[in-house]
Amino acid sequence: MSKPILTGKAGETHLLLGNEAIVRGALEAGIDVVSCYPGTPSSEVPDTFFALSGAQGGDDYYFEYSVNEKVALEVGGGATLAGAMTLVTMKHVGVNVAADPLMTLAYIGTPGGLVLLSADDPGCHSSQNEQDNRYYARLAGLPCFEPATAQEAKDMVREALLLSRQWQQPVLLRTTTRLNHLRGPVALGERAAKQAPAGFQKNPRRFVPIPAVARVRHGELLKKLAEAAETSESTSLNRVHGEGKVGVVASGISRAYLADALQDSALAGKARVFELGMSWPLPEKRLLSFMSGLQTLLVLEEGEPILENEIRALVQRSGKAFNSLDIRGKGTAGLSRMGEYATGLVRRALAEVLGVNLPEGLTGSPTCAVPENLPQRPPNLCAGCPHRATYFAVRKIFGDNAVYSSDIGCYTLGILPPLSAADFLLCMGSSISAGSGVSKASGQTTIAFIGDSTFYHSGITGLVNAVFNKHDILVVIVDNRTTAMTGHQPNPGVDVTIQGACDSQVDIEAIVRGCGVCNVQTVNPLKLKAFNQALEEMKAASGVRVLIAREACPLHARRLEGRKVTRVAYVAQQGEDVLACLETLACPAFSLVGGAGGEVRIDEDQCSGCMVCLQMAPGIKAKGRGE
Ligand code: SF4
Ligand code: SF4
Repeated sequence: MSKPILTGKAGETHLLLGNEAIVRGALEAGIDVVSCYPGTPSSEVPDTFFALSGAQGGDDYYFEYSVNEKVALEVGGGATLAGAMTLVTMKHVGVNVAADPLMTLAYIGTPGGLVLLSADDPGCHSSQNEQDNRYYARLAGLPCFEPATAQEAKDMVREALLLSRQWQQPVLLRTTTRLNHLRGPVALGERAAKQAPAGFQKNPRRFVPIPAVARVRHGELLKKLAEAAETSESTSLNRVHGEGKVGVVASGISRAYLADALQDSALAGKARVFELGMSWPLPEKRLLSFMSGLQTLLVLEEGEPILENEIRALVQRSGKAFNSLDIRGKGTAGLSRMGEYATGLVRRALAEVLGVNLPEGLTGSPTCAVPENLPQRPPNLCAGCPHRATYFAVRKIFGDNAVYSSDIGCYTLGILPPLSAADFLLCMGSSISAGSGVSKASGQTTIAFIGDSTFYHSGITGLVNAVFNKHDILVVIVDNRTTAMTGHQPNPGVDVTIQGACDSQVDIEAIVRGCGVCNVQTVNPLKLKAFNQALEEMKAASGVRVLIAREACPLHARRLEGRKVTRVAYVAQQGEDVLACLETLACPAFSLVGGAGGEVRIDEDQCSGCMVCLQMAPGIKAKGRGE
């Protein structure tokens, strides 16, 4: 789908992922610079820019995977100060990392225009929390846009970039998982003719926020927000339709669910709807006019009751006119602060406020019923994943009494038995510093696991801190040569990407030594004997020790390095050793056929030939694939 995004002509319609539509919208606006840290559900936005960059027509913007979200926003912030139109993308928790520059960027402004994409994840499909980043719009002072369809995703990012340039203020584009990952028809527009960025215009009284400057800039920010509020009153992104005494205010993907619910005959034409595409600042005058004459108002928003509370405050400030207005939101017919909304949920909430009994067939919750008794699919590392070997060996040497500090990445999948290699986790890059805290407070043996990408992201500072404060911790850097969890994006340590070989690698072991750690080893975890020995040596030592468990993710090695699986494992002789291997290593290529006492088998199609099981069980041998 990449090519039409880049080369599609105005008027053509293509079926695009929400994330792909965002890319097209940015190209139509004339984007100059894109920076990011990949994170689900935003990942396809930077991945698409990356795939297109360097292609003809994709060579007129600069793209980078930054080492973390703060750096991404700082790179983007610098670019927009030099007049470049800039998009910075991340997932919702990434905005926490970027919050520091974000607050000040809102003060000094963005001459070239800058949109921050925050892809929120209600329901925690792939995240450690459900935070609602519309609060960041309020906290930092950023106008907020919330698309509901793929078409709107394209149109709104374009509009947001152009308005950001006009206001010279950053804008938040808040999406949620369904918008990022839905696919819908998108009518393309013209790609803007490129203008060279104006370059950096020196103005320290604006761009160097010493206190005297910051106080003035805060006033400027408030003026810009007032200007944005005027736009919110007039923009066609905010629209009213329908009739009735029951009103609905909806933002984000809830608008799509509402549109579906209103197509049902029992509900069609019964409500007056205010769709907020630009959801902050609120178009207060239009909202007051909309609510005039309503008896009941339903507020639909995924996440926190932000609009609901703001509308309640607006009504309260407006005095007696709305004394009898019944405002419903969270708590109505199961509308919750938790998880995602869906058409069935919105339909029930709407029926409740309308006093309509839904006909049978429309009362169910999901549109597609999920069959009962589906097999459970617990989170699991792939067959042959080097993290499995790492965890197996660490558990063998350190056992249950050690405390295992985990971090964000594929390796968090080692949480469940038998690996049980994650006792706690705070956030991206926290394992070394949080592990240091546990070790200091408890005196327990503590092992921090951190991936290569996460180490570059924000693990280095934890290591520096551990050295400086003389913590007693073993750090295991699980270096799988890619950023696997979010889709195999490159990081500063990789040697190959979809665009070919990388010639500028940053060596993790050199960084670790440069941080002042003397006890460092780099060992392949698939070589169990050598890895176990390194662990024994680390166990006998104290202070900050770092073991770099280096072996490429086999999926990455196959896809990008072209590594072939020529030899696989098979069970040559059933026995206790083979059963023990199944139970302790738990590679998903293994299965027990016929229940307890049955035969252990290895699925050759799943086996990636890591050969770890052969080192554990004499009854397992290697053979050529297909033999
Ligand atoms: S060699 Fe053994 S441990 Fe490795 S993927 Fe194959 S079955 Fe699993
Ligand atoms: S994608 Fe790679 S690193 Fe992640 S679990 Fe699978 S094999 Fe391991």
